[in-house]
Amino acid sequence: MKIEVPKHRQLLASGNQNRRDFLDGEVVLIGAGPGDPELLTVRAHRLIQQAECVIYDRLVSDEIMALVSTDAERIYVGKKCADHAVPQEQINELIVEKARSGQKVARIKGGDPFIFGRGGEEVQELLQAGIPCRVVPGITAASGCTTYAGIPLTHRDFVHGCTFITGHLKNDKLDLPWQALAREDHTLVVYMGIKTVPVLARELLQNGLPESTPIGLISNGTTVDHRDYRTTLGELVEFVKVHQIQPPTLIVVGKVVNALQDDIVEGDGESKISSSSWEQRRAI
Ligand code: SAH
Repeated sequence: MKIEVPKHRQLLASGNQNRRDFLDGEVVLIGAGPGDPELLTVRAHRLIQQAECVIYDRLVSDEIMALVSTDAERIYVGKKCADHAVPQEQINELIVEKARSGQKVARIKGGDPFIFGRGGEEVQELLQAGIPCRVVPGITAASGCTTYAGIPLTHRDFVHGCTFITGHLKNDKLDLPWQALAREDHTLVVYMGIKTVPVLARELLQNGLPESTPIGLISNGTTVDHRDYRTTLGELVEFVKVHQIQPPTLIVVGKVVNALQDDIVEGDGESKISSSSWEQRRAI
């Protein structure tokens, strides 16, 4: 019996097809990670160099764009919050058009294409248009930025799990299951949340998180402009105002934010993990 391979399975690379070289007329959605070019996967690096047309976002760092072939066409479609440089439908049309012209099209996105990156929408468009495509996963901000800030997201001494949410308003509302999210034994990572911190803080406090809940803020994480800060839920709104914190910033809520703080000893202007206090705390 002949098994019909569904059309979308033929178009969207699966399994070992992901290892192939760039096909003419193929679109590869490439996750570029949070900014540090050394956090690219080997595959992302290889395909970025093979691309003939690169369509990229604001979150893709200059250092990563420097890896693109000098012969490749580069098209910037970045957006700033509330300032949509190119509407999503137009981006979709552009990708389809470039692929139909037979170019090897790299759609490079910050972090991971499928984590708050609209990668799913773009793949749907490509499948509908009958264009072969592939997705290269990238290190998402929640992973890269927190690691560079010394935050172990799921440290088992503190939490049982971790949830990624978006602080982006939809129809002027932040419609989230706050009661379920406001838990002290759980880590919350908020993408695109800096403009809506007043709502975030209010909802989490009203639903039972204490004012003392540790907060980590990481701006331009892993890039040359990386900054990370610690505050508390009670002081979050004021802190963001006073320090004029701007996107792209990731917000981390929960005890893991300070999990390694007690273990850091200052020396020669550099922070080092002190293994003795580490051992002590683990023994508690
Ligand atoms: N697909 C991306 C997320 C895109 S949404 C990913 O997987 O990481 C954009 C949001 O991601 C930003 O508003 C910010 O909250 C977060 N973000 C992405 N890169 C970041 C970086 N280098 N530093 C801090 N936050 C970042």
